[in-house]
Amino acid sequence: MLNIGCHLSVSKGFLAMGKQAIAIGGNTFQFFTRNPRGGKAKDIDKADADALLELMKENNFAKILAHAPYTLNPCSKDEKTREFAFQTMEDDLRRMEYLPHNLYNFHPGSHVGQGVDKGIELISEVLNSVLFEDMTTTVLLETMAGKGSEVGSRFEELRAIIDRVELSDKMGVCLDTCHVFDGGYDIKENLDGVLEEFDRVIGLDRLKAIHINDSKNPLGSHKDRHEKIGEGFIGLDAFERIVTHPILRSLPFYLETPNELDGYQKEIELLKKF
Ligand code: FE
Ligand code: FE
Ligand code: ZN
Repeated sequence: MLNIGCHLSVSKGFLAMGKQAIAIGGNTFQFFTRNPRGGKAKDIDKADADALLELMKENNFAKILAHAPYTLNPCSKDEKTREFAFQTMEDDLRRMEYLPHNLYNFHPGSHVGQGVDKGIELISEVLNSVLFEDMTTTVLLETMAGKGSEVGSRFEELRAIIDRVELSDKMGVCLDTCHVFDGGYDIKENLDGVLEEFDRVIGLDRLKAIHINDSKNPLGSHKDRHEKIGEGFIGLDAFERIVTHPILRSLPFYLETPNELDGYQKEIELLKKF
């Protein structure tokens, strides 16, 4: 069975997202931990979190994925910006323990001219300050498209970050199909080759989640513009190979395509048919 869901709005609470996921045929979902532009998160409603956990158990949910605000930049040149990333992630990870054993994903950040090596160093510094021994959440680095000075568009960069993290058993990777394709990894014509490379550089045991998005732009474009499944440059045949691939098919898939709920529902239906 395919484990699939989409990005949902957290505004009505945890249980509401779980019910929405089921209503559109999913058994997981992704949500922002707070306003994507940052800012203070609502206090956790423990009863609501518990109700979601119960619903997830009853309906055989796969792990859910919390996404950090995409404006976080743990490798900014500006110390205040890095401090904000640290505080947000620390708070998010503490709150994630109300939903134990799930996933937390973040964009490694942009080095803004300091160079990739400096970026890698700063990102791992933040991770070393926010990870804690008895946490149950797995923290995922997202593969990036390589727009501007983004760190994480090469598998080697993600590996280098993980290598510097002391509690590296808490770390994994979320592969975004649009981002890796934009980053130059040809998952359309050479999925096996890309997975071999991932395994050689990072290790497939680190691969914990897939963001499943088509791309508005061709291979290697470094643009990061998501497209609906089958309507972009990756194409439907490639997505059939992706969701049925023996290495990938048991992972959780999260749609971040430009859709409302009814569009997500159709994509979930389409991908489940494979
Ligand atoms: Fe993302
Ligand atoms: Fe993504
Ligand atoms: Zn993206």
